[in-house]
Amino acid sequence: MHLKSLTLRGFKSFASSTTLRLEPGITCVVGPNGSGKSNVVDALAWVMGEQGAKSLRGGKMEDVIFAGTAGRPALGRAEVVLTIDNTDGALPIEYSEVTISRTMFRNGGSEYAINGQACRLLDVQELLSDSGIGREMHVIVGQGQLDAVLSATPEDRRGFVEEAAGVLKHRKRKEKALRKLEAMGANLTRVQDLTAELR
Ligand code: ATP
Repeated sequence: MHLKSLTLRGFKSFASSTTLRLEPGITCVVGPNGSGKSNVVDALAWVMGEQGAKSLRGGKMEDVIFAGTAGRPALGRAEVVLTIDNTDGALPIEYSEVTISRTMFRNGGSEYAINGQACRLLDVQELLSDSGIGREMHVIVGQGQLDAVLSATPEDRRGFVEEAAGVLKHRKRKEKALRKLEAMGANLTRVQDLTAELR
């Protein structure tokens, strides 16, 4: 599995549609300060479901939408499309090429799609969770983040390992199931109270 291409439209400084084609192996993005290198990395995190405005170096989520320049007006939407080569079947989906897209409008809300089919954020997260590019985004190491990893608490460090090993997805599912069980327990108690009252 490898990332094949990344298309940005109206995302941060990329007002016009821009496609980066990535080959297997190492890709270097070079350019002067402020030319948008980190914005490319932000786009990658964003399309994979990143929810934190701060992680995307913004104040609020809408900050990812092209805000306009002296010569070009602001846009109303941002879109990023990531194409992944899945010929080795690393992603649990029966397509040799997988496209994930995310669109955001200035009035809020994000739309996700997998291979052109609208889907939920959860579907994107689940698709990626076993691939090593999971929702906690530990595979994207931003400037200064290496220090944070080195000084992480043992608990946080366990989180990195769990994600890499694909355990995190199951832990999240377990937490969700336990929350449901708890809610069911409360409903059951209520039904028992009502039954007792009716006797
Ligand atoms: P450095 O080498 O200094 O780290 P860089 O190449 O990584 O720089 P980025 O941080 O990716 O640069 O890009 C910063 C530029 O993106 C700034 O000029 C900023 O104004 C622009 N930018 C960020 N968000 C938006 C937005 N929503 N609309 C328009 N431009 C934006």
